[in-house]
Formats: sequence, structure tokens, C-alpha cells
Amino acid sequence: MKYVDEFRDGTVAKKIAANIARAADPRRPYHFMEFCGGHTHAISRYGVTDLLPDNVHMIHGPGCPVCVLPIGRIENAIQLAQTPDVILCTYGDMLRVPASHGTNLLKTKAGGADIRMVYSSLDAIRIAGENPHKEVIFLAIGFETTTPPTAVAILQAQALGLANFSVFCNHVLTPSAISHILQSPEIRELGQVRLDGFIGPAHVSTVIGSQPYEYFSEEFQKPVVIAGFEPLDVMQAILMLIQQINTRRAEVENEFTRAVSRHGNRKAQQLVAQVFELRRTFEWRGLGWVPYSALQIKATFADFDAEKRFKIAPLVIPDNKACECGAILRGVKHPRECKIFGTACTPDNPIGSCMVSSEGACAAYYRYGRFTESRPPTTTQQ
Ligand code: SF4
Repeated sequence: MKYVDEFRDGTVAKKIAANIARAADPRRPYHFMEFCGGHTHAISRYGVTDLLPDNVHMIHGPGCPVCVLPIGRIENAIQLAQTPDVILCTYGDMLRVPASHGTNLLKTKAGGADIRMVYSSLDAIRIAGENPHKEVIFLAIGFETTTPPTAVAILQAQALGLANFSVFCNHVLTPSAISHILQSPEIRELGQVRLDGFIGPAHVSTVIGSQPYEYFSEEFQKPVVIAGFEPLDVMQAILMLIQQINTRRAEVENEFTRAVSRHGNRKAQQLVAQVFELRRTFEWRGLGWVPYSALQIKATFADFDAEKRFKIAPLVIPDNKACECGAILRGVKHPRECKIFGTACTPDNPIGSCMVSSEGACAAYYRYGRFTESRPPTTTQQ
């Protein structure tokens, strides 16, 4: 298949691996964070780490949209779903994310709530049109990739005069999360993860472009290479990061030129700017409260804002004490460092959010059997 098979070619992978081995300076370690869960999945699925020298370490970041939603927001969604005459629509992965006391949206649905899995925000618009006597709420989650379709849904609901449609908005922003990982005092207290560079997300960057990463490559002197989701994309990005570090550069480079430009998708950005504005702060699972890291619906579209329409009260609920998702999402721990990985916590019985979605680090490790990979400590107390 064009643009897929040639990026999974084993012969080329061996050549890139040899180039990485030649480029990596054996006198120093390299620690790279792949921000995006899609890259974590590709690294686990294709065994990319097995092809790297021992001094090149990959650290998994918080870029799994399902994983970063805090329990309080899921409890809010459960409360909404239990409201009489409400239909709650959301993506399938959200249904099994654990909330508090062993609940989740799937169990809430089994208990009688009208919760429907949709493939797109426009499915929720259709359901609202078909059920004029119900309140239809779209539980919107995700990074910059899924935000434009939510904006389109709100604009379409307005154009259609759908008075029974609203959005519970939980859209979050990638650059703010990366900046937070690099500078947050809370993370320093917990032991700052050593990072020499980032693999920038693929889908997110098709929307926002490469330009937004320039701030923290300059400010924090960390190189960023935006990469596609195929194994050769990831390996080439690792080689480019090593080359930058060896030559003391901290630049934004784009390996994924077949889809990402410097300025991204202007039309999608305009749609988002029309409907959404920055939130002052937002709670992330694992990262805590991160300033200006999420979006809310503008006042001009307040009729479609479920938080206003249903007066949703913020809830702050801690994670299950046994779960290490917070540390994994910060890159401070590896999935197998969680004591209940693969025993009490499995994809069939997830205790934390990182075991639910295929983009979650724990689910990727479980699915591809990466139980025994050796890894030196990546944290340094500061
Ligand atoms: S294995 Fe399960 S409980 Fe442990 S960190 Fe991962 S999701 Fe949380």
C-alpha cells in the first residue's frame, strides 16, 4: 500500500538502525520522549527499541487522549448520562476508562443510562436530529486532531437550529503539555525526567503545523523532530534527533513532510478559533493543573456548551492508589514498573486509563508483550 509498505521495510530499517548505531556517541546516553500514543504503539508493535543501541532510551509521553482525562471529568460525564432524558454520545475508547469506585461509562450504560458510541461528532448531530425530545450531549475529548470536527459539529448544530445538542468539551493542547513537562515545579518535585529531545506528534502536527514547537526548542534548547506513525518514520526521527544533539543543535525538524507543513491546516485552525478559546487552566491526569492547556467553548456558542447548560461542577478525584498512570504519563515510570501491570490490571480489566486505549502505554506494552525490556532509570532528583 502506497505510503505504508515502504515505511515498514525491514531492509531499510536495518540500514537506519546501522546509521543510528554509528551516530550514537557511546560515551553518553540519549533520552527521547515520543509525546504521542500513536508513536508509543508503533514503537511497541514493531520492536523499534530492540533495534536501538543500549544508550538510546525512549520515554513514553502523555499524548494519549483517553489516558489524560482526569477521573473528575469522567465522573461529570457519568452524572450527565444519568440525567433524565439525556443521550450521551462519545468515542468507544471512553466507555471503559475507569472512574471512581470501579465505575465507568459502560457500566453506567448497563445500569440504564442512554450512552451511545459514535465514530464522529457528526453522528451525535444525527442522533440529536432523530431525538428532538431528548438532550443529546457529545463528550468531546482529544488533542488538536479531534478539535476541528467538534467545531464543525457545533457550527452545524447552529446552522440546523438544533436546540437539543450540546458538547461537554475536554479538548487539550499539545504544546502546553510539552512545555509543562519541561518546566513544571510539581514534576521537578517528583523527580524530573531526563529528556534530550522530542519526537513530535504526527496527526496533531498536520493540524497545527511545525511552527508551534519552535518556542520550546528555542526556550528549552530541546530538539524536536516531527515524525509519521510508521516504524521507519520513528527510526529516522531518532537518527535526526541524535544528529542534532551531536552537533549541539536544538531545532524543529520535520520528518513527516508528506503530511505536515510549517503552518498546518489553516482551515481547521480557523474553525477551531471561531468556536473555541483557551481555558485558564485544566486538570490532566498525571500532569495536574496545567495553565492554558485546554479549550472551552466561546460565549457566543454558549447554547451548545454542556458545562453551562447543565451547570457542571468541577470534581477533583484522585486516581486509584495502586495505579501508576500519573507517573507513566509524565515519563517518570515505565508500564512494567507498575506492580499490578498484567496481573490485576489488564485490557479486559483496566484499573487505570493507560490500559484502556490502544494508544495507552500500558495497553501497548501488554498487547505486544514488552514485559522484559531492560531500561535504566530516567529520573534525576533536582
Ligand atoms: S498497569 Fe494499569 S494500574 Fe498500572 S499504571 Fe498501567 S493502567 Fe495504571
